[in-house]
Amino acid sequence: MTNPLLSAWETPFGLPPFDKISDEDFAPALDEALAAHEIEIADIADNADAPSFENTILALEASGEGLEKVLAPFFALAGADSTPAREALQRQFSPKLAAHFSDIHANRDLFARIAMLWETRDELGLDADQARLLYLVHRSFLRAGAALTGDKAKRMKEIMGRLAELGTAFTQNLLADERSWTMQLSEADLAPLPGFLASGARAAGEERDLPGPVVTLSRSLIVPFLQFSPDRALRQKAFEAWTARGAGGGETDNRAIVAEILKLREERAALLGYGNFAEFKLETEMAGTPARVRDLLMQVWEPARAAALSDQAEMEAMLTADGEALPFQPWDWRYYAEKRRKALHDIDETALKPYLQLDRMIEAAFDCANRLFGLEFAEVSLPGYHPDCRHFEVTRNGEHVALFIGDYFARASKRSGAWCSAIRSQAKLPRAQAPIVVNVCNFTKPAKGEAALLSYDDARTLFHEFGHALHQMLSDVTYERVSGTSVSRDFVELPSQLYEHWLEVPEVLQSFATHVETGEAMPQEMLEKVLGAATFDMGFATVEYTASALVDLEFHDGAAPADPMQKQQEVLDALGMPRAIVMRHATPQFAHVFSGDGYSSGYYSYMWSEVMDADAFEAFEEAGGAFDPVMAKSLEENILSKGGSVEADALYTRFRGRMPGPEALLKGRGLAAE
Ligand SMILES: [Zn+2]
Repeated sequence: MTNPLLSAWETPFGLPPFDKISDEDFAPALDEALAAHEIEIADIADNADAPSFENTILALEASGEGLEKVLAPFFALAGADSTPAREALQRQFSPKLAAHFSDIHANRDLFARIAMLWETRDELGLDADQARLLYLVHRSFLRAGAALTGDKAKRMKEIMGRLAELGTAFTQNLLADERSWTMQLSEADLAPLPGFLASGARAAGEERDLPGPVVTLSRSLIVPFLQFSPDRALRQKAFEAWTARGAGGGETDNRAIVAEILKLREERAALLGYGNFAEFKLETEMAGTPARVRDLLMQVWEPARAAALSDQAEMEAMLTADGEALPFQPWDWRYYAEKRRKALHDIDETALKPYLQLDRMIEAAFDCANRLFGLEFAEVSLPGYHPDCRHFEVTRNGEHVALFIGDYFARASKRSGAWCSAIRSQAKLPRAQAPIVVNVCNFTKPAKGEAALLSYDDARTLFHEFGHALHQMLSDVTYERVSGTSVSRDFVELPSQLYEHWLEVPEVLQSFATHVETGEAMPQEMLEKVLGAATFDMGFATVEYTASALVDLEFHDGAAPADPMQKQQEVLDALGMPRAIVMRHATPQFAHVFSGDGYSSGYYSYMWSEVMDADAFEAFEEAGGAFDPVMAKSLEENILSKGGSVEADALYTRFRGRMPGPEALLKGRGLAAE
């Protein structure tokens, strides 16, 4: 039998043939693809001809096609439809892959060719795209330790292999803790909860073959439970389980893993000649230095903390009025915030939800992309990696642009959170290829025959991930290395967070927020309240986020802490963290920072991007509205199509005419001084 991962795919749009791939195909295909890639690399390194852009840099860019064919479908499955078998494969693959790429970076003949091209770059007659690719390839080799020799090179290899193992273990521990905990609810517990939450709890119980409804640690269940359950003891129990993930003391405890990761990162930065890991990480970012990050975060921290404490004082009065005892606890915040929201803005999530149908919100995201960029979406039936996946062909003026996949519902086999990934990224050279982009969410799956309904937060997540998808789909660069979202970490959230603003454009909700039963548009009064509530509880949201970002930064800007939990406490104490708010992601659950090193000393970047998204949306408003065609064209030309082919600050300045400051952000969050 032929292994579908090793043969040519005669599939529509080149989608991996998920209906033909079985788990047993991955391990042999990976071995074969790794061996083939090794030969390709050796051919480049040992080429008898003098190094040229084509025979070295372009050849490198062209290599590894077989590997991508194995890894793209594998990682789609490992993240969104994991099984014990796939987890075992991932544990087996991650050190192999780390070793493979570290061998490439350690190839002295290969690096000598790249270094020679870099030194003679001004004489090579390169165009701007070629020069950028050479710069990025050379820099990535240097940062991977290609210039290290002897014991130092050997140690770097050990560190990278171990870090990969630790990152995988961290993720799997978290998933195991999320999966193993459920809290049984009685009919009496269920009675005061809104319908969507009660049916979500029933569906979760059924999915796990449990005798009755349960709360799980999936964000889409636990957060509304904390928001709506009037039972303080149940809220406490759920909250404590949720915040104890990765710190339970057993086999799935992540705390020792975190300490080891931080220690190894410190050693890695020192080997490469950096003062600490944050300096190393921020070198390639738009922010540039830890000091600039801290400066931005602290400008936001104080106004956010003040707003949160003043909100808390009001909620303490509500708690006391309910006959409950102070102090106000972290598991009280969401419940009383919801009550306060109802009192102040009279938005009843339960009344709002029937207006936010998943299908209509998908249509809304598509319609905005049509009005801004002329994209059209047609649903097509394809064998996806899971039956819940929906496939859409994206075209413009009749020409194929991309394949878009939406995988919206929560399930036990899916990692928590929401994300956008590319099964294939756009490129022109050495092969022209159109993107295949996936948005993965964790919305509560409705009972059979019912329409899926979203919270307003869910709808915002949908727009957010779709903004990332647009960055991939509208990418129009020469080389895959700089395609789509391959930009600096503190720039990558600009397109996604910017796109959230279109959900807040009144005419979008007017058209697409229609009642699931009556089909009527959202009443004007409710619409105004929804939009007016955008800044509600932003003190809390900003505090929980900024605390996480600062802890992440302090973990990496200086010596690695021997006891990360103690360090976390010190940072929070120094900030004056309100006792009723916890970090959005406490250290043992902080997957952004410890599942890999993607967001390590980089969690701040959501806020860095928000500075830009607030400022960028203002550009539309100044120009003539949310759908201003000139600004839309400029956004596509200067940002969405450019990927990482040009430095982020240059792209932003071309779009806006200047760099942004935090004023628009503070205004947008309702935290600006009056
Ligand atoms: Zn994002």
